[in-house]
Amino acid sequence: MNTKQSKVMVIGGGVAGLTAAWAMAESGVAVELVEKAGFLGGHAIQYACKATDTCQQCDACTVEKVLKNVVEHPGITIRLGAEVAQMSKNDRFTVSLAPVSGDTSDAEGDCQDDYDKNPEACQALKGFSKNNAAVVNAGADAKVDVDAVVLASGFAPFDATQKGTYGYGKWPNVITGIELEKIKRAGGKVVRPSDGKVPEKVAFIQCVGSRDERLGNLWCSKVCCPYALRTAMSMKYKYPETEITIFYMDIQNTGNGFPAFYEQCKENLAFVRNIPVDVYPLENDRLRMRFMEEEAGTPADAEFDLLVLSVGIMPGVDNQALAETFGLELNPDGFLAAQDDLNPTLTATEGVFLAGTVQGPKTIANSVAHAGQSAREVVKYLGAA
Ligand code: SF4
Repeated sequence: MNTKQSKVMVIGGGVAGLTAAWAMAESGVAVELVEKAGFLGGHAIQYACKATDTCQQCDACTVEKVLKNVVEHPGITIRLGAEVAQMSKNDRFTVSLAPVSGDTSDAEGDCQDDYDKNPEACQALKGFSKNNAAVVNAGADAKVDVDAVVLASGFAPFDATQKGTYGYGKWPNVITGIELEKIKRAGGKVVRPSDGKVPEKVAFIQCVGSRDERLGNLWCSKVCCPYALRTAMSMKYKYPETEITIFYMDIQNTGNGFPAFYEQCKENLAFVRNIPVDVYPLENDRLRMRFMEEEAGTPADAEFDLLVLSVGIMPGVDNQALAETFGLELNPDGFLAAQDDLNPTLTATEGVFLAGTVQGPKTIANSVAHAGQSAREVVKYLGAA
């Protein structure tokens, strides 16, 4: 089969789906990019830049660049607010799409709410929502014939209300990492939700929802350590007086210069190797935390203005349905199982490939690498099919 005549469906418009779509389109493959939400970029487009006086390699800008590339590529058709309803396979895959019911979040509205500090991403979002002829808006059922499918439907963040003792959802200054990112995107700085003031004492709690035997979530989410440390260091750079404490079990070494970066972090941040169990509200919406002191092994208390929960990466809510539709299996943690450990883009169904966190937790950089590998496998498959 000539790749020039081939068409591939990418399911999921986060950083992995965008990367795979763009790489395949650059190889001459026609791409149908299907996204449930009303905007592209997924979770990663909501992250703010964490540069201090130097780039911290957080990859937030990587997402914006690939989004812009996709939006401008003539070989990619974008379907927003749509999801897979059915699939049948003869010589090609026939995928039936249906509009997503409920709120899919308007791209332009999100742009104004969340991306005011980010004109490049905003332009890209407005570009595809208003002016891009390649966008097929939600609202209509569709049947699309394709030669291969890339599943890139991403992950679900852990629901922090499940950790009831942290007071998430009850006390205004207990927030998740992604909420902190939105606060930074909206106003350009970190402030307390309760009063809009810059916090003087901030705590991060790591491994919220991950590596938790009681919840049955034994995996490491891999992203929350580098995320929290980069965020904390960019806060410290902007507000040197702010005291920041990281409560952790282990710090994940993500390579790529991380050990040296961690040494810098130890000079600027406080680290407590213990995960607090209880958080109590105080006057002025401050918070008191109880934890075990590492060396003394005795209970200790500390007070903070803002508590950031580093919530973990959970399997996507569509994983089970996608597995059934495309004849795949889930791994024991609930992510889509790859057929080959050495090549985790391949699945048990010929012509169906995986990209990004649908297959397991990954950093943005690792999602991009995985999606690039997936695109190369698809092009190889199309050439050989
Ligand atoms: Fe915990 Fe760090 Fe792994 Fe996240 S990356 S689950 S915070 S050890």
